[in-house]
Amino acid sequence: MNFIQGAFRNGKPLFSRVRRAAEAGLRDALDFAFPRSCLLCGNGFDEGRWLCPVCGRRVRESAAAALHSDPEDFPYLAGERHFDGLAACWEFNPDLEQCVHRIKYSGMERLGRHLGVLAGEILREKQILGTRPDAVVPVPLHPVRRRERGYNQSERIAAGFAGVFGFSVRTDLLARQRATRTQTDLTGEERQKNVSGAFRVLRPDSVRGLTLLIVDDVVTTGATLNACARALKDAGASSVFGFALARPVLRTGAGTD
Ligand SMILES: [Zn+2]
Repeated sequence: MNFIQGAFRNGKPLFSRVRRAAEAGLRDALDFAFPRSCLLCGNGFDEGRWLCPVCGRRVRESAAAALHSDPEDFPYLAGERHFDGLAACWEFNPDLEQCVHRIKYSGMERLGRHLGVLAGEILREKQILGTRPDAVVPVPLHPVRRRERGYNQSERIAAGFAGVFGFSVRTDLLARQRATRTQTDLTGEERQKNVSGAFRVLRPDSVRGLTLLIVDDVVTTGATLNACARALKDAGASSVFGFALARPVLRTGAGTD
């Protein structure tokens, strides 16, 4: 019995189930490519975009693009700092929170690229980046987490961001060698311990003397960026900067989040 015969055996054609699944997949794919309603307000619109004109404008105008490089810009980061500065496009607001959640947990990887492009355009317009990096390095996911998610959101953001400036993206330099628990519920100190030693440079010869820009979706305490920067600096990178879509609103005197 070949596959075709087997598919129609028992009267219940396997193909109809396969077709239904394929149709559903195609619908999802089309929705992802050309959403029919705004991700933030839900209003329908015709153009193949992610956000309606009103929300798109609000997101663009809420950008607080800045380069943070003073120690007091990282009040939650205890101990030695290994990175040289962080450029972030937004202070975390409900719009960004929703977008980042969609990128990470709703499979909307192309939204990551879209926001990466938008952030790149805004940073370029405001001339935030002073140094041209030799390469952009997305924060790697552990292979198991990457398989579960199907993609690394930081790579998608990095691709959009780097494309605006013509920077090259390198995913072959850094790896996450230890699966770490999600940082969301951890204090600043716990976050540092959680990611300490989690990253490994795959090609130490290739990073020596380079200026690198690490890309992450959100930087909260800077612990992940710091752990990546430490690994890269130990391998001989000369400067390591970070870029994130969003960082928390800085409140002096606030406790760890
Ligand atoms: Zn909207």
